[in-house]
Amino acid sequence: MSSFDFEGHITDIVDYPKPGVVFKDITTLLKDPDGFEATIDAIAEHFKDAGVTKVVGAEARGFMIGAPVAYRLHAGFVPARKPGKLPREVRSESYDLEYGSDELQIHADAIEPDDVVLIVDDLVATGGTAEAQAKLIKQFGASLAGMGFLMELAFLNPRQAIAKVTDADVFSLVQVR
Ligand code: 5GP
Repeated sequence: MSSFDFEGHITDIVDYPKPGVVFKDITTLLKDPDGFEATIDAIAEHFKDAGVTKVVGAEARGFMIGAPVAYRLHAGFVPARKPGKLPREVRSESYDLEYGSDELQIHADAIEPDDVVLIVDDLVATGGTAEAQAKLIKQFGASLAGMGFLMELAFLNPRQAIAKVTDADVFSLVQVR
């Protein structure tokens, strides 16, 4: 595991986007060349022997981490997007957010049943977004190698929510308890 101080480079924004919420701003980590490299390397290293063929990342911060992890693993990258953004036939799953509810879509031809998929996101909070992506991947009949996050808000018990839909490996660089 990297010795980089990931947590020290993430900024707490109190009362954002609404009172009572402490938002974890990862942009202060990503702008740091060593921090960005260490983040991508650590997630890719953890899954390097998992046989990953596709990385799924949800908009928008899942793209920032997921795409470079895919590149490092020599896997394809598949964007999971909000409704109305993808131009062709899609598969969809709706999900509960920390701050409301939403839906994610993936192009219907983006994943094959023999793909081994890794879900990557910047942060897992309630686990709702990750759960929706796991369900989406199941729709394609593909196998899920795991989920890689930069930060896990462990006090919200996301692993409990994720365990309801998959027993895939969940890896987080930073756990907030
Ligand atoms: P969940 O569905 O696990 O409750 O929320 C995780 C999703 O919401 C991720 O896609 C993540 O980008 C976003 N998210 C929720 N809270 C935060 C936060 O404090 N900081 C950041 N960077 N993203 C958050």
